[in-house]
Amino acid sequence: MGVLVEVHKRSAIGYKELYACVKDKDYFVITTNVAHCFQKFGFDKQKLFYTQGDYGLFQCSIPCHSNTYDNELQIRTMVAEQKNMKIPSELVPRCPVCGKPMTMNLRSDSKFVQDEGWEQAYLRYKDFIEEHKNLPTIFIELGVGYNSPGIIKYP
Ligand SMILES: [Zn+2]
Repeated sequence: MGVLVEVHKRSAIGYKELYACVKDKDYFVITTNVAHCFQKFGFDKQKLFYTQGDYGLFQCSIPCHSNTYDNELQIRTMVAEQKNMKIPSELVPRCPVCGKPMTMNLRSDSKFVQDEGWEQAYLRYKDFIEEHKNLPTIFIELGVGYNSPGIIKYP
């Protein structure tokens, strides 16, 4: 049996409790939530399709190329070094290719980067759906509304 978890950003359920429910199951998560919470609470990134981006990733603000970068160390350094809500200028994240500021990997306009990791997550999601289409599968839909219905609600 498979478990497909569909979560929208307004969901109020606790991630810890949700993970406890699915961690020993053949699960997959599709989400429009960009807050990086699934990974923080132990969900396997290989079982996660973060359709609208991930605050755990930086991308070039232009973007001059289609890579994303894990930002945990940079963010933790900024938090540790901030004073009066400001960080030292040298900690402002810069694109390693063009030097322009980096930004969060968030689908908010046409500059969203769908890198190889995003494409692989999409393919794993499609594979999960295909492999489970004739198997008993529980769909858990949490907080999925009409903000972006073409991603989860209608399909
Ligand atoms: Zn760049």
